[in-house]
Amino acid sequence: MPATFTYQFDTPSFKGTTTINTGLFIDGDFVNPVENGTIDVINPTNGKVITTVAAGSPKDIDIAVAAAKKAYKAVWGLKTPGFERGKLLNKLADLLEANIEELAALESLNTGKTFTMSRTMDLPTAIAMLRYYAGWADKVQGKTLETTDQKFAYSRREPYGVVGQIIPWNFPLMILSWKIAATLATGNVVVLKPSEVTPLTALRVASLIKEAGFPPGVVNIVNGYGPTAGQAISEHLGVAKISFTGSMIVGRKVLKASAESNLKDVTLELGGKSPTVIFDDADLEQAIKWAAHGIFFNMGQACTAGSRIFVQEGIYDEFLQRFKGVAEFIDNATGDPFAAETQHGPQVSETQFNRVMGYINSGNEDGAKLLVGGERHGEDGFFIQPTIFTDVKKDMKIVTEEIFGPVGVVIKFKTEEEAIEAANDTIYGLAAHIFTQNLNRAIRVAHAVEAGSLFVNCSNAPDVTVPFGGYKQSGIGRDLGEYALDTYTQVKGVHINIGQKL
Ligand code: NAD
Repeated sequence: MPATFTYQFDTPSFKGTTTINTGLFIDGDFVNPVENGTIDVINPTNGKVITTVAAGSPKDIDIAVAAAKKAYKAVWGLKTPGFERGKLLNKLADLLEANIEELAALESLNTGKTFTMSRTMDLPTAIAMLRYYAGWADKVQGKTLETTDQKFAYSRREPYGVVGQIIPWNFPLMILSWKIAATLATGNVVVLKPSEVTPLTALRVASLIKEAGFPPGVVNIVNGYGPTAGQAISEHLGVAKISFTGSMIVGRKVLKASAESNLKDVTLELGGKSPTVIFDDADLEQAIKWAAHGIFFNMGQACTAGSRIFVQEGIYDEFLQRFKGVAEFIDNATGDPFAAETQHGPQVSETQFNRVMGYINSGNEDGAKLLVGGERHGEDGFFIQPTIFTDVKKDMKIVTEEIFGPVGVVIKFKTEEEAIEAANDTIYGLAAHIFTQNLNRAIRVAHAVEAGSLFVNCSNAPDVTVPFGGYKQSGIGRDLGEYALDTYTQVKGVHINIGQKL
């Protein structure tokens, strides 16, 4: 049997124990990887190893896909009534709720995000996803279609079968739940690979999936590295559909692997360089707070991060001065993710730390003006100060590329037309945040900006009921809301001749 790992939390906000099985969760049990691969899991607050978990290889993916296929044929798909599938999803939600503090603590230990955020945002959202799609499970319907009186026709929405899912490290448990909820509700089975950077909560949830009573093989969670296990899922002939959340570069690889294997259907939720547009007539106090949330939330590690902040000229100077104050306040509230007063933790890994510091260096070298931040915070771990540049040029890397850290640029604009043009001047199109008290303008700009999610007078505020996904190079397809039911089903048209003779 694979090893277990027990961790004793003795923190200001949580005291308790967690035990996880470190193996691969395949066919309802934890197993050892065929090739004995391992992943060292690092604590981002100090760079030390928390534990080591199993890493799956392509051979383990083969085994997981076979188990999923077997489960799909024998017990799942439309063999289990939607109501029963919904009941299991609700049971899993109950178990997440019963263990919410422990799961939140484990998430914060591995990612460095504050315990407050894990406890009040990541976990409740993960639970809401499971419950929302539990409700849909028995409401996925086709239509009867009028043709002629010689024919009875109808459409059916059928599951794909084995769905491969590959997810990132920024919201590990929440995105896991977001992915599996709609997929299982619509009758598919899952082979999911968490990020190698954050495998811990997925392992704890795997044991809860077993406890909830999902039949073996319906959900398989295989930790592993992207170029091996992830690539194996993307090119597997037994996987009918793939749902990927991560970077644009890897998204292209997933699409290519699908094209070159079995043309599996692909949904991609990728990165962004989202604009925050603040007009003169905005409630400035609120706009400043939301703009800060837009770029510094989760240490800037949010796909919808408002990393290009456009401010109208009449309020530009006041905005800069007050926004700088907010960034400094957050920097002063940086530290132990488990301390109640902490608002800002470390970047998730050394790789990300180096990447983000590289962008800060490039901003300095390219001649942008540093308004605030720009340095490592403290001596240990991967902490970076909330950082804002001004006086940027539109072709600078800090303006065009996704940084995925607490680093934003502020740009002055004069007119609405200029703001829309600048907001759209990006290869990405994931989200936009608009601040104005003029309703007509809010709607006009929301419709003119090329992005999948528009947040008016708020930021980074997706909702399980509202579709989510990217325009342009931010992705293909939609998750969340009723729209995800289309993402995880394929439509069949059935034609029944009721009279035509040849
Ligand atoms: P990443 O693309 O590096 O990794 C994502 C996943 O892909 C990981 O599980 C990784 O192991 C796997 N992977 C890596 N190489 C692979 C390969 N060749 N084949 C198959 N899988 C492979 O992204 P990340 O660094 O984990 O996450 C950050 C990125 O995710 C950012 O670009 C962010 O914007 C994006 N993101 C998007 C959304 C969204 O919903 N649009 C949500 C969160 C994060």
